Amino acid sequence: MFWADELLKNRKGKELINDAWTPSGMVHMGGVKGPVIHDVIYKVLKQKKTNVKYTFGFDDFDPIDGLPPNLQKSHQKYLGVPISIAPSPDGSGSFGDYFGDKMLKLFSELNIEAEIYKTSQEYKKGIYDKAIKFVLDNVDKIRKVYEEINQKKMFPTWFPFQVICPKCGKLGTTRVTAWDGKEVTFICEPQMVTWAKGCGTKGKMSPLGGNGKMPFKVEWAAKWWTYGVTIEGAGKDHASAGGTYDVARKICKDVFRKEPPLKLPYEHFLSGGKKMASSKGVGLSAEELLEVIPSQMVRFLMIKTKPNQAVEFSPKGTDLFPKLYDEYQKAERAYVEKSDDNLARAFELSQTDGIKVPISIRFTVLSQWVQMPNMEEVIKREGLENWAKYARVWVQKYAPDEEKFQIQKELPKKTDELSQKQKDFLGQLIKELKTETNPEEIQTIVYNLAKEMKLSSKDAFAAIYVAFIGKDHGPKAGWLLSSLEKEFIIKRLNEASK
Ligand SMILES: [Zn+2]
Repeated sequence: MFWADELLKNRKGKELINDAWTPSGMVHMGGVKGPVIHDVIYKVLKQKKTNVKYTFGFDDFDPIDGLPPNLQKSHQKYLGVPISIAPSPDGSGSFGDYFGDKMLKLFSELNIEAEIYKTSQEYKKGIYDKAIKFVLDNVDKIRKVYEEINQKKMFPTWFPFQVICPKCGKLGTTRVTAWDGKEVTFICEPQMVTWAKGCGTKGKMSPLGGNGKMPFKVEWAAKWWTYGVTIEGAGKDHASAGGTYDVARKICKDVFRKEPPLKLPYEHFLSGGKKMASSKGVGLSAEELLEVIPSQMVRFLMIKTKPNQAVEFSPKGTDLFPKLYDEYQKAERAYVEKSDDNLARAFELSQTDGIKVPISIRFTVLSQWVQMPNMEEVIKREGLENWAKYARVWVQKYAPDEEKFQIQKELPKKTDELSQKQKDFLGQLIKELKTETNPEEIQTIVYNLAKEMKLSSKDAFAAIYVAFIGKDHGPKAGWLLSSLEKEFIIKRLNEASK
């Protein structure tokens, strides 16, 4: 049974699926795995006629705690300031909106049907006020959860809350030291964190209505309690033992006295065994991925394996992408023939706009065609342009060298290595090819002539490849030759047979 069907088979009643992300940097390809997985759960529940909603939070009330190299200078002073308040790198809107808009674009391309909310606005509207009061009133219970999980004593003056400093506007630098039931006492610490400097301001203020926020782990539980979330997964960085996910679940249970959402930890994509991170330049961004595979296949890639399986993803110089295309075509056949349930469901739930039947030509063949000058016509005629654009990107950015070939403008040096028999074969081929332009016919002519001349077909084809692309292997010779000008072929065969 497909993993999502298995996961949801015994679920009953109304469901609220939630997921969230902090819009503070570019989205790497692993960054859409969570949204896609939750979307698939949503779609499966909809198929089951469940009363279900899928919400997705842009956690833009988090403070900026680090910057990409290009923003180090311009945004240094905003370190510690909430993402929703710091200005956008391009000067219009907020820092959070700048990155959030990029995610919104991905959501639309991948047909992720979540209702987006901005956490900063939820704080401002007072949606979490009840939860804030509750956690401050029950701070001793929260400290106890932290103590149990971290095996470390908490300070009796620690409170799960930070305010926005009324003087310097930073949130990441403030510490709350007391709560009187109406106001919190705070200090904006100059040296509490290494990445931002507070201004030293002390005071008292209400914690409600967007004046400040709960720390991430507490906020997560507070969201589950406030909204009534029933399903929310977490990526491995949060879901490791004793990690954020565990702490939030324990707070939900022990402090809020609510059953935490269905547990669903999911693994990341690995690149050379390492977790992908766009900040470190490891792996691909989601945008780069969409340059080389269509959106349906991005979804397919995210859901075809069980969420808790790590997927090694090293596409450079490998046949990873062509294999993925093959697998996707196989999944489409499984869907039509109702053969392999896992593949069929993965295909069905990957669709973004009704069931779209993929083209039937293999991606490897198409990748050869896009390298042949005169195949453009055929690609257009056969309606292959949609995948051809991905094939071009693959050849240019990812294909191993042996998959790349270029018609050599001058006679390749490698023709010196041809045997006399191979040269004679090329010489004879001139006469045979004079009028023929049909690729299949050319292919047959090459076979028959080789047989006639008692040359192995391997050596015969190798002679053609060496003469035209300077390598001893290549795409189907009939197609390669039919894509070239007749005059050029004859001239080249003449030179190579000498
Ligand atoms: Zn301050």
